[in-house]
Amino acid sequence: MTAISAEPPVQAPLAFRPLRIPQVAVNGFWGQHIDAVANKTVDILYERCLAAGMFDQIDPSRPVPEMRLPFRRNQYGVLDTITAQMFWDSDVAKVIEAAAYALYRRPNPALEAKMDGIIEMFAGLQLEDGYLNSWYIRMQPGQRWTNLRDCHELYCAGHLMEAAVAYHQATGKRKLLDAMMRYADHIGRTFGTGPGQKPGYCGHEEIELALVRLARETGERRYLELAKYFVEQRGQQPHYFDVEAEARGENARGSWPASLHADFRYTQSHLPVREQQKVVGHAVRAMYLYSGMADIAAEYGDSSLTDALEILWNDLTAKQMYVTGGIGPSASNEGFTDYYDLPNDTAYAETCASVGLVFWASRMLGSAPDRRYADVLEQALYNGALTGLSRDGSRFFYDNPLESHGQHHRWDWHKCPCCPPNIARLVASIGTYIYGVSDTGVAVHLYADSVAKLEVAGADLTLTQSTDYPWDGAVRLTVGLAQPTRFTLSLRIPSWCKDAKVAIGGQSVPVETGNSGYLKLEREWRDGDVVEMALPMEARPVRAHPKVRQDTGRVAVARGPLVYCLEEADNGAELNSLLLPRSLGGMATAPITEFGGAVSLSLPALREDDGAWSAELYRSDVPGLSDTTARFVPYYLWDNRAPGEMLVWVRSAT
Ligand SMILES: [Zn+2]
Repeated sequence: MTAISAEPPVQAPLAFRPLRIPQVAVNGFWGQHIDAVANKTVDILYERCLAAGMFDQIDPSRPVPEMRLPFRRNQYGVLDTITAQMFWDSDVAKVIEAAAYALYRRPNPALEAKMDGIIEMFAGLQLEDGYLNSWYIRMQPGQRWTNLRDCHELYCAGHLMEAAVAYHQATGKRKLLDAMMRYADHIGRTFGTGPGQKPGYCGHEEIELALVRLARETGERRYLELAKYFVEQRGQQPHYFDVEAEARGENARGSWPASLHADFRYTQSHLPVREQQKVVGHAVRAMYLYSGMADIAAEYGDSSLTDALEILWNDLTAKQMYVTGGIGPSASNEGFTDYYDLPNDTAYAETCASVGLVFWASRMLGSAPDRRYADVLEQALYNGALTGLSRDGSRFFYDNPLESHGQHHRWDWHKCPCCPPNIARLVASIGTYIYGVSDTGVAVHLYADSVAKLEVAGADLTLTQSTDYPWDGAVRLTVGLAQPTRFTLSLRIPSWCKDAKVAIGGQSVPVETGNSGYLKLEREWRDGDVVEMALPMEARPVRAHPKVRQDTGRVAVARGPLVYCLEEADNGAELNSLLLPRSLGGMATAPITEFGGAVSLSLPALREDDGAWSAELYRSDVPGLSDTTARFVPYYLWDNRAPGEMLVWVRSAT
C-alpha cells in the first residue's frame, strides 16, 4: 500500500467546492454501506469482470478472445453494430475507481495489487500514438473512430480518465494517469474543428466531465478546452453522426434502431446544448452531459450554459422524475418518454441514471447552496441509486420498478454490467457529497454521521456531525477550531421537513431560509460550539401530479429522505388490495430486526375482501373492507428478504 497522496488536486473555480474523500471520515448509515463496498463489493466486481473474460480482452499478452455476444442480424436484416464487450473498458475503469475509493476506507494490498495488474494491462495495450481502447485494438483493429454514435469509444476513454484520477489521488501512483494524459492528447489531436480533425463527439456522453477531472488533477488547461469543445460541438450542423455514417456507407438516421436515431434525441445531439429545453433520450447519457455542462459552466463562468441547465433541471424534476429519484421510465430507449409518463411496474429507472442525477445535482451546488438541488440529490441517492446495491453489497439492481409482482430480483451480475461499479463508486465516495466549502463558509448538504476536516476563512476546521440520520432527524454539529473564526455555516432545511428546530449552544435560533432553503449562520465560531438540529421525521403521504395517470388514486409514503414500500414478506400477497386512509394517523415505527437500525412504519389500513370472487372475471358487487395494518419498509431495502410483491404507490381510500 502506497501512502495516500498528500498533494491536493487543482481546485475547481467553484464558489462552493466539494471536499476530497479522505477529508471526511464517514460513520453511521453511510459508513456501513462504505464498509460493504470496501469489504465485499469491490472484490466481487473484480471477480465478475474476471469471470466475464474482460481481462482476456484487455491483456495484450493473451490471445485475442472471441466475441462473447456475436453480432446478429436484426429485424431489418442489418448487422447489429454493438456488443457489450465494446463497453468493457468502462466497466473495468469503474471498478478501478471504486477500488481507489475503497482504499481510503481500508488499506488492502491484495486489492491494490489486482488494480495494479489491470493498469499494467492497459499500459501494455496502449499504442505508440497514445490510443487506448481494448475493443478497437484487439477485436476490431483498423476501425477506430468510425462510429462515435454507437460504439462508446470516447465514453470508455472518459471512464478510464476518471479511474486514473481517482487511483492517482488514492495511491499516488501515476501509471494510469500518465497513460490517460497521452490518450487525452491523442484525442485532442484527433477531434476538433481544425484542418484534418474530426468534428465529432461521443454518442454516450462521459468524456466531457472526465476531461474536466483530468484537467483539475493535472493542472493542464488543454483538457478543459477539449471538454468544452465536446460540449459545444454537440448537435452542430452538419450533424456529425450523419457525416460519419456516410463515410461508412450507411444512413445514421435510418440504421437500426431507426426509432432511436431518427432525430438524435436519444443521444441529446438533436440540438446544440444551449438550445435544448427538454430532457430527452437515454437517461444516463443525459445526466452525464448535464454534469459535463455544469463543469464547463463553472470553469468558464458561462452563464449561458447555466441558464440552459436551469431549464433542463426544472423540466426533469417537475415533469419526468419518479418519487424515488429514478429517471428514464422506458426500457426501449433506456430513457425518457413524455411528460408525466411514469409507469410503476415497467419503470426502467436504471440505477446508473439516478447515480448520474446525483452527479449532476452535486455540480449544480457549486455556485451556492440551493435546496432545489440538494433535496433531489438526497432523494435520488437514498432511493433511486442506493436501491441498486443489496444491503450486504453483493447483489445489484439494474432497473428499478416501483411495483413488482414478484418477478423482479437483484442480479449477481448483468450482461451489461454498468450499474454495479457505478453505485459502488458513488457509495464509496459519499463523503465528498456531504459538504461544500467556500472561502468564507461551509454548507452542509447532507446529514450523515461523520467527521470532516477542512479549511475555511483561513482556519483549520473540524466539523463533527453526530446523527442517526436517516432514521432520526436529530443532528448535532460540533465545531473544532484552534482560534475563533468568522464564517457562515449553511444548513440545508429539507423541503420535506415542516417544523425544523435549530439551536446554537442550547439557544434556539429562528429557522429562516429564504429562497435557498439553507439556514445561514454567520458568526464568530469558537472551538466547542455546538449546533443542534431537530428535523422531525413523521411519515408523510406523497401524492403525484394529477397528470401522472399511473398514480391516480394512489399515495406513496415517505419518512425523512426515504421513500417507503410495501413488501409481500410483511403484508402477504395482493398488495393492491390494501388501501390507505386519507390521513396517515396512527403511525408506529419499529426497528426491522433483519436490517439492524432500519426503521419500518406501520399504518392503519384497509384490505379489500376478495374472498367472494370465484372464477368470474367481472362482478358488480362492492367488495367488503376490513381493518388491517400495513407495514412499510424503505424502498432501497426491498428484495433483501424473501422474494415477493412490492408496491410504492398504494391505493388511497376515498
Ligand atoms: Zn447502469
